[in-house]
Amino acid sequence: MNIQEIKEQLFYYTDEDRVAEYEPMDLHTSFRCGGAADLFVTPGSLGELMNVLDLVRTKNIPYLVLGNGSNVLFKDGGYHGVVIRIGEGMDRVRIEGQTVFAEPGVSLAKLAKMAAEEGLSGLEFACGIPGSLGGAVFMNAGAYDHELKEVLLSVSSINHLGMIKDRKAEDCGLGYRHSIFMENGEVILGVKLFLKPDSRMDISDRMKEYTLRRNSKQPVHLPSAGSFFKRPEGHFAGKLIEDAGLKGLQIGGAQVSPMHAGFIVNNGGATATDVLDLMRVVQETVLDKSGVMLEPEVRIVGE
Ligand SMILES: Cc1cc2nc3c(=O)[nH]c(=O)nc-3n(C[C@H](O)[C@H](O)[C@H](O)COP(=O)(O)OP(=O)(O)OC[C@H]3O[C@@H](n4cnc5c(N)ncnc54)[C@H](O)[C@@H]3O)c2cc1C
Repeated sequence: MNIQEIKEQLFYYTDEDRVAEYEPMDLHTSFRCGGAADLFVTPGSLGELMNVLDLVRTKNIPYLVLGNGSNVLFKDGGYHGVVIRIGEGMDRVRIEGQTVFAEPGVSLAKLAKMAAEEGLSGLEFACGIPGSLGGAVFMNAGAYDHELKEVLLSVSSINHLGMIKDRKAEDCGLGYRHSIFMENGEVILGVKLFLKPDSRMDISDRMKEYTLRRNSKQPVHLPSAGSFFKRPEGHFAGKLIEDAGLKGLQIGGAQVSPMHAGFIVNNGGATATDVLDLMRVVQETVLDKSGVMLEPEVRIVGE
């Protein structure tokens, strides 16, 4: 099937204005760089999402699911296939007692705020992570010695055969920035969390403290995908990069942040190639100076 044919098929399942052709991915990723997706779909509901997934699966069309695009770098050649954005329309939340039932498109910041308003603790660490809940489960996102794993009860997802699976948290392979969904390619459709009651004031104070720490230590004013590298066992990526004398190093528009060496930032007009070239220089230099190979935490996709 060519792009036009796929596009026409997609119109059966979602509104025409929810399908875009050759959509630049810099518009949909926090790095603000990268090429275009052949087709970009933003289904308006979980039902539409399931139909779109059914189409791409049965027609063997390459596809990639995107949450809020805050941990993804699209290469400059873009993505040949369909990028399916999970966000608005798939962001409903229901709170019953200490249990939270949420769709994957809800933003983590919004969810943390809703929980805080209900006097529920456990998501304070997530208030400044700019991702969706689906992306956070996929990455087992974490900060300040906490991670999503601690509050996750179960996840429902759809596999490549169109079968829906419900997994308890302990069966989701959650580890440091890792989940089973990285291996099985299933799309997360629903998430159940269990939070602890606490005073609204204390929860709010913790969120304020985390926000202050984040804003004072991280270059949140510039496009990036957060910490570029995973934390290597026994080290901190930022410290290794700084000790290797790379803080502030710039290639094209991409720079090792002078504020926090663990971040690669887009200083204006960076291409994905600039970011990847800088990534390689950092990896080689750190390996040379400290013997540690840094692995990207950011998901690098496309051509
Ligand atoms: C300024 C800044 C600060 C950050 N701070 C932190 C931090 O403190 N801690 C931290 O852990 N991360 C941090 N991040 C990284 C990022 O926000 C998290 O990894 C976040 O969880 C990614 O969510 P997302 O919705 O943006 O996912 P995306 O970037 O859209 O996608 C990430 C991966 O998840 C997959 N995915 C997304 N949704 C689904 C779904 N529904 N089903 C299956 N797969 C899915 C995608 O295919 C992709 O492989 C930061 C990023 C920025 C820009």
